[in-house]
Amino acid sequence: MNENNSFRISEEKRRVLLIEDDIICQEMMKASIGDTYDVIVATSGEEATGIIRAQHDTLSMILLDLNLPGIKGIDVLKSIKSDPEFSHLPVIVMTSDNEAEVECLTLGAIDFIPKPYPASKVILARILRTVELSEDRETLRLTERDQLTGLYNKDFFFRYAAQLDLYHKDAPTDAIVFDVNHFHTINDRYGKAAGNEILKRIADNAIAYVSEAGGIVCRSGADTFMLYCRHIDDYEALLARLSANLDVEGSGENHVRLRMGVYLDADKSIDIERRFDRAKMAADTARDHLTAPVGFFDHSMREAEILEEQLIDDFSTAIREKQFVIYYQPKFNVKNDKPYLTSAEALVRWKHPKLGMVSPGTFIPLFEKNGLIQKLDYYVWSETACHIKDWKERLGVSLPVSVNVSRIDLYDPDLTEKFLQIAKTGGLDPQDLLLEITESAYTEKTDQIITTVKNLRDLGFRIEMDDFGSGYSSLSMLSTMPIDALKLDIQFIRSAFKGQKDTRLLEAMIGLAKSFEVPTIAEGVETDEQYSYLKAMGCDIIQGYYFSRPLPVDEFEKYIVLKLKSEDDLCLPLKN
Ligand code: C2E
Ligand code: CA
Ligand code: CA
Repeated sequence: MNENNSFRISEEKRRVLLIEDDIICQEMMKASIGDTYDVIVATSGEEATGIIRAQHDTLSMILLDLNLPGIKGIDVLKSIKSDPEFSHLPVIVMTSDNEAEVECLTLGAIDFIPKPYPASKVILARILRTVELSEDRETLRLTERDQLTGLYNKDFFFRYAAQLDLYHKDAPTDAIVFDVNHFHTINDRYGKAAGNEILKRIADNAIAYVSEAGGIVCRSGADTFMLYCRHIDDYEALLARLSANLDVEGSGENHVRLRMGVYLDADKSIDIERRFDRAKMAADTARDHLTAPVGFFDHSMREAEILEEQLIDDFSTAIREKQFVIYYQPKFNVKNDKPYLTSAEALVRWKHPKLGMVSPGTFIPLFEKNGLIQKLDYYVWSETACHIKDWKERLGVSLPVSVNVSRIDLYDPDLTEKFLQIAKTGGLDPQDLLLEITESAYTEKTDQIITTVKNLRDLGFRIEMDDFGSGYSSLSMLSTMPIDALKLDIQFIRSAFKGQKDTRLLEAMIGLAKSFEVPTIAEGVETDEQYSYLKAMGCDIIQGYYFSRPLPVDEFEKYIVLKLKSEDDLCLPLKN
């Protein structure tokens, strides 16, 4: 075969295989369609089969004469339609025998051209229509499926799920989401190919299930699957079935565990995507629970959902009416004998008119999910800049403050511009603003993020890596990272002093920070003991209830005035 034949460019003439032994018929057909199509001829079933096998991906359609020497035309049709590799090729049958039509149609022929041939125009129009139809179908087949697993993709899944509802209005139906626990660690440990293999096996298990029990399934994200099926009772059994045969090759044990969220007897009056959001919510309650890997959507989640809806609805008003307020928590440099106030962290709270004080733990993750965080953060940064300016002017105090920068902010192409503008409006120096960026922000789209952070740093803003130790940044990445301080994840302090004290990990983290020659910050420091240990281990800056809780701006003002008025006060932690 000519190598170029394997390429198919849409501008090229489409290729038609004409299976016809009669020379006159061959010539007539070529005369009719040869200007539009590249016609190749096979004069027997045997020859045709060889050509199809070798060149099927260059063929647009097949014209088949039923009356052939050797293998019968009808058997050629059967063999084309039974082979999954070329069964999608459209076949038009040519015959003078009206009786054969029905049989050929049931065998998968798409159309007929009667013999003797009709006018050229008619033949051409039929072939054109057939080719177009089948190409549309092929495009659809490719776009509606996930390439790796062959399952539907999410969009088509939702469409077909809605169709399923139409046909089974009253049947109780469950929306199920399942995924692989810690899939990234499987990829890390065994490689991407092994990860893909596992996803394929899960897909195969799911297909086997729906082909038996009904329903549809799709892969909706990297390792996340969705299943929409008739209500069942035994989810443990379903999970076991989906998890069958997933051992990583050669590891000898089954490392791969699935977890599942179920929205039982889903309410069909709500949007199909929303039903799966609920299943996802339920799945999140099952994370890491070895003993209870299946979570169910329940009343309390419904309440959480209602609260989330309310918070989203109220957001714009809250910004307009300045319901978001900023608290400040001091950070102390503890390198010398006497700790001194070196900066503060701005932490947002929502003074909600109906709900009272709402903590950021409730709304930050929600706003990170739906993008509102960008507006909120911008508001917090601007307000903070106003406060810094006010302290300078009114109190004669210049105190740098750190603000939290969310991962999503880092994708904003105008981010550096925004910070410059905020600093300019407040008459601030970039040094007055410290930017806390959580470690996990660096692990996705690393290059882009590092470039953004470098730009900010070049402009004079100082960068603190927040929650250090909670993400997955590699050591080599850390050494190239543009940062001015590492802020240990609060969990290290918690676990080091919980129950049986074990500060080895904490010490190792501080040592690691030292090797990068950047100062370490510990937050969440509450007790004398924690304070003394951290100081002894070489921690540079300390933040926590030990010095002060986060304070509303008026109280924080009094606090700094007090700190700065008396030299002696500087070394006395303000106990709450
Ligand atoms: P974070 O940035 O890690 O902030 C530290 C959290 O630890 C704060 O919780 C702080 O109040 C708390 N904390 C400080 N010292 C102690 C202590 O001694 N003991 C205990 N138990 N906790 C202490 P908070 O204010 O509830 O904020 C939670 C998280 O919300 C923050 O974690 C941050 O990720 C996020 N957040 C807060 N404000 C903003 C903001 O304006 N923008 C963004 N994007 N995120 C924010
Ligand atoms: Ca922070
Ligand atoms: Ca933190």
